[in-house]
Amino acid sequence: MRRRDIVRLSDILDQIQSYLPGANTHLVEKAYVFAAKAHAGQIRKSGEPYLSHPLAVAYILAQMRLDLPTIAAGLLHDTVEDSSLTLEDLRKHFGEEVALIVDGVTKLSALPTTDRFHKQAENFRKMLLAMAKDLRVILVKLADRLHNMRTLEFQAEPKRRRIAQETLDIYAPIASRLGIDWLKRELEDLSFRYLYPEEFQRLKAEVEKRLEEAQEYVEEVKKLIQQTLEKHGLKARVLGRSKHLWSIYRKLERNGWTIDQLDQIYDLVGFRVIVKTIKECYEVLGIIHALWPPIPGRFKDYISLPKPNMYQSLHTTVLGPRGKRVEIQIRTEEMDRIANEGIAAHWLYKEGAILSPKESKKFEWLERLVELQKELQNPKEFLESLRLDLFPEEVYVFTPGGDIKVLPRGATPVDFAYAIHTEVGHHCVRAWVNHQLVPLDYELQTGDVVKIDTSSQQKPSRDWLKFVKTSRARSRIRQWLRAEERERMVAAGREILARELRKHRIQISSFLDSPEAQEIAHKFNFKTVEDLLVALGYGKLTPNQVVKRYLGEESPKMVCEKVPETGEIRCTGEVLLMDGTRNVLFHLGRCCNPVPGDDLIGYITRGRGISVHRASCPNVAILDEERKIEVRWEKSDGLAHPARLSIITQDRKGMLAAVSTAVSAAEANILKAEVHTTPDRRAVFDMIVEVTDRRHLEKIMANIRSVDGVLKVERRLA
Ligand code: MN
Repeated sequence: MRRRDIVRLSDILDQIQSYLPGANTHLVEKAYVFAAKAHAGQIRKSGEPYLSHPLAVAYILAQMRLDLPTIAAGLLHDTVEDSSLTLEDLRKHFGEEVALIVDGVTKLSALPTTDRFHKQAENFRKMLLAMAKDLRVILVKLADRLHNMRTLEFQAEPKRRRIAQETLDIYAPIASRLGIDWLKRELEDLSFRYLYPEEFQRLKAEVEKRLEEAQEYVEEVKKLIQQTLEKHGLKARVLGRSKHLWSIYRKLERNGWTIDQLDQIYDLVGFRVIVKTIKECYEVLGIIHALWPPIPGRFKDYISLPKPNMYQSLHTTVLGPRGKRVEIQIRTEEMDRIANEGIAAHWLYKEGAILSPKESKKFEWLERLVELQKELQNPKEFLESLRLDLFPEEVYVFTPGGDIKVLPRGATPVDFAYAIHTEVGHHCVRAWVNHQLVPLDYELQTGDVVKIDTSSQQKPSRDWLKFVKTSRARSRIRQWLRAEERERMVAAGREILARELRKHRIQISSFLDSPEAQEIAHKFNFKTVEDLLVALGYGKLTPNQVVKRYLGEESPKMVCEKVPETGEIRCTGEVLLMDGTRNVLFHLGRCCNPVPGDDLIGYITRGRGISVHRASCPNVAILDEERKIEVRWEKSDGLAHPARLSIITQDRKGMLAAVSTAVSAAEANILKAEVHTTPDRRAVFDMIVEVTDRRHLEKIMANIRSVDGVLKVERRLA
C-alpha cells in the first residue's frame, strides 16, 4: 500500500488477520464506528476527512503487530481531545485498558510545545516515558507522530519546522531506544526533509546517482556471497541496502565533509546476510573472512554482547572485489526482526498481559532504557515499575514558558520557585498549577505547568523547611533565615552599644564612622565592625569593653588605706560616673574578699559608690551588665587583707599546729581558725589569714599543701 492512499477499515482488519488469524476484531470495528462518528465533518489540512488520520495510525500499529486494545486506542486516540466523547464514554464502551491508553496519549498531546525542547530533549524524552504509565501509550504516540510527519507538507512554516525538530529531538530517539529501527529511520529522514530541505534533496539525488552506479557492484557482491555460502551448503538471504539519508548526512557532518565529498563515504550500501541459526552466523563469518580479507578492528560481536536495546548481529568490514571496502552484518531471522521492530517484536506473546515475568528476561535492556538498573534487580518489581512508574524519583514539570524542570518526587511549588531563581523562591506567595491555585506545599505531578506569583513583601518562612524536598530550596531558605537573624543581631548589638555610648555623650554613628571602629573589631578578633555588633547582639561581648577601648580609657585604679580609728580598709578611685562624679568610694565585696592581684569587677551602685568583687564572684554574675566596670588594683598597698581558706587534712594529732607553723613561715597572721572532723576521719579547717596580695596568698597555700597529712587547700569565696 502506498503512503498517500487512504487506509480503510478492511486494510486494518486484513493486517490483523495476518498475525492474529481468526482473532475477534469486534473491539477494533466498534472503535472505528465511534471514531467515525466523533470526527464526522472534521477535515484535515490535507483536505481529507479527519478520520483518515486515526485510520492511518491504527494501520501503522497493526503493521507493528500490536494487540487489539492498542489498535482500538489508535482509532480513538484523538476523540477525547477533539470531540464530545469523554474518557468515561470510552471506559463504558471499550473498557479500562483502551480508555487508559487513549487517556495517556491525550495527556501527552496536551503537553506544551515550544521550540525550546532542543536543549532539554533528554528531559522531555524522560518525561514522556514517565507520563506514559504504559509503553503502549508511547507506541500509539509514535504512530500518531509518524503519520503526522508523513503528511507534514500540509502544515505551514514555522509549525512544520517545529514539529520536524521535535520529532528529531524527541520521538526518533525514543523509537531508537525502543529498538524500532524502521520507525527511527523514517522519522529521521522525514525530519531531515523538512528541517534542511535543500540539503535533503541534494543528498538524496547524489546518493541515488551513486547507488545506480554501484548497482552492478552491489549485485556482484551479493552473488559472490550467495554462491560461496551455497558451496558450503548454507542457505541464506543476502541483502544490499542503502543507509538512510540522515545517517549519511550525520556522517558527513561528523567528518567535516560537504555533500560534494560524498565519495569519501565508502559504505553507502551495507550488506546483510540472514541465516537460520546462531551457529550458522559464525560459519558465515568464517567463510566471508576466507573469501575477502577482513579490515582489522572492524569486527564486532553483538551476538554474544547484545546492544542495550537488544540488538544482535555480527558486524565486519572486508576488502571486497576491486579492493573496495564492504560492510557486512550477519544475523538470524529472529535477530533481524528484533533489529527492525524492537520492543514491538515482543508484544503479542500473550494477549492481555504486556509481558509475563518469564519473558521479562528478554527485556533486561528496558531496564537500562529507563535507567532503573540500580534500584530494581528483581524482574517482577521491574515489570510493576514499567507499568506504573518509570522514574520513581523524579517529576518533570513545566515553566509557563515551556522550560522543563526536573525535581525530586514530592517536590512542591516552593522547590520549583527556588529552581527558577533564588529571588523567586524568597518572594513566592502563590502557586498556580495548570491554571488552578494550589497551596505552597502541593505535591507537583509530572506534566504540571507551574506558575509562581511573587511579592516583594513576602519572605521565606521557617515552615517552608517542613515541606521542601530539594536541597537547593532548603539551603537557600536556611541561608536567608541565618542572614535575617544576623541582621537582627546587628540591630540589637547596635542598640546595646548606642546605649553605652550615650553615657559618654557619643553618637553611635560617629563611632561607626570612625577609623577606630574597624581597629577595635580587629582587636577583638572580628573581621568587620558588623561582626562586632553581632557579638554584642549575642552578648558575647559587653558594650563596656568596646567603649573603653574606644575612649582609650584604662579601668579605674583603686587605692586602699586603713582607717586608723576603726582598722577598716577604705578604698577610693577616680572614675567618671553618669552623674558627673569623679572621685568615687569603692567597697570591697564581703562576699568574696578580693585581695590585691585578683581580677576585679566593679558594680556601680545607686548612690553608694562602686562595690568591688573578684571577677569570679558568682554574686556579680547576676548583676546588670550595663552597670559593671572593670577595676584595677593600685599595685601594692601593703595592707593586710583577709582571705579565707578551706583545708582538708587527715584527722590526727598535731595537724592544727603544723598548719599554723606553715602559715607563720609565710609571714602571715591567722585571724580565725575553726576545725571540725568528719565521720570518714578527715579534719576540715576553716581559716581566715591576712595577706598583702595574691602572691602572698599563693605562697601560704603552697606552704600548707607541703604539710604532711594535708589533702586539699582551697580559697573560699568569703
Ligand atoms: Mn493524532
